[in-house]
Amino acid sequence: MIETEYQFGGPLGAAGVTFGTPAIAYLLYFVCNENGCPSSSFLEDPLAALAAQWPGIDGVFSSKIFGYYCAWYFGLAALQFILPGRTQEGVELKDKTRLKYKLNVLETSLTIFGYLGFMTVKEGLSWSFWVWMWSNYLYLLSSALVFATLLATYVYAASFFTRELLSDHGATGNPLYDWFIGRPLNPRIGMLDLKQFSELRPGMILWPILNFTFLAHQYTTAGRVTDSMLLVNAFQAWYVIDSFINEPAVLTTMDITTDGFGFMLAFGDLAWLPFVYSLQARYLAMYPTDLGVRGVLGVLAVQATGYYIFRGSNGEKNKFRTNPEDPKVAHLKFIETKSGSRLLVSGWWAVARHVNYLGDWIMAWAWCLPTGFKTPVTYFYVVYFAVLLVHRDRRDEAKCRAKYGKDWDRYTKVVPWRIVPGIY
Ligand code: NDP
Repeated sequence: MIETEYQFGGPLGAAGVTFGTPAIAYLLYFVCNENGCPSSSFLEDPLAALAAQWPGIDGVFSSKIFGYYCAWYFGLAALQFILPGRTQEGVELKDKTRLKYKLNVLETSLTIFGYLGFMTVKEGLSWSFWVWMWSNYLYLLSSALVFATLLATYVYAASFFTRELLSDHGATGNPLYDWFIGRPLNPRIGMLDLKQFSELRPGMILWPILNFTFLAHQYTTAGRVTDSMLLVNAFQAWYVIDSFINEPAVLTTMDITTDGFGFMLAFGDLAWLPFVYSLQARYLAMYPTDLGVRGVLGVLAVQATGYYIFRGSNGEKNKFRTNPEDPKVAHLKFIETKSGSRLLVSGWWAVARHVNYLGDWIMAWAWCLPTGFKTPVTYFYVVYFAVLLVHRDRRDEAKCRAKYGKDWDRYTKVVPWRIVPGIY
């Protein structure tokens, strides 16, 4: 189906995000490192400081490390098939079929974390793997970027030769835009669903591994592990494990049901998420920060508030949609819509139309506050995530308005706030 309604500012916006987001990922590395965060030379003359630090193409990309990255990606894919797991059907697609997905990301990640833990202890805490990870950070980032680019190109090209469904917004006919936003909806190689696999595995499992690399670096160089480092590692590991425990929920997210698979998702899943979201732990590895008891309690309170809203609202909707008779949600009020789906108008979903985003954003603060207030760079995640959530809310709103029509107008009258009640 050809549809020319562009998102992300059309081809120009797609080009901007394609070059801009990798540039930011590298910039964060060169701006925030052992020389400062940012270094005084960067503040004086950013371009000269960047040029002075540029290690040349050989210092950024290594075909050997890229080979290791390929082994990581395809090794994980093999584990999805080898390890036990249950198979579940996804939502009904527009051709009335449902795809089957093997769910075992928790088993896969625990196997890998267990293996790394075992090897680390067996080596007598010599940390050699973690030192290797630290030294090859830039090569690993480049490998993930190159892999995501090749993956996006492969699925775009393959979508012309297979009978796979195309995404509603990714078949405009503009090659750059379609490659970026994703032309195929659910590209597969045999049984391997590239989008579902990439969403929760190569990047999400790498993220806590990178965080632990930074913890190990702090331990090796400072001789201790700070409370702030422990909190960031624990919060983000918990977020990752929580999403693994709730793996079936990914099958009903906008990413899987609606968005195509192109550079945007491939780069976001494989490179942006693990390398940019771990910035705070990387900073703490170089600049150990102590919070003290009051600081720890304060950050824990922020995290608990965010998690309470995040898990409460997401869990409530999930339960209501999958088992409305459950006593936990049976009392909730809802609107019947012509489409057949029901929209909650009490409980969490009466507070704001995306109150779950608010909980996620509050947790983002708890992930940045442990870095203290010496630099604004480590608050990049809070700012970026606010932009992502506001933009995502607008996209989801447009989708719901198209799906529910007048019923959506009724709903927005009852629940007028988008994300933050009383403010937005
Ligand atoms: P949501 O969980 O917000 O789901 C939105 C969908 O829920 C709508 O499209 C609609 O779907 C349905 N819905 C809307 N209002 C109601 C209602 N009142 N009652 C029942 N159903 C309703 O989707 P997301 O995928 O955007 O977010 C899921 C979680 O993932 C969030 O907590 C978010 O913060 C997080 N997230 C995190 C990211 C990160 O990088 N860390 C990135 C993106 C998301 P339908 O058509 O079925 O009615």
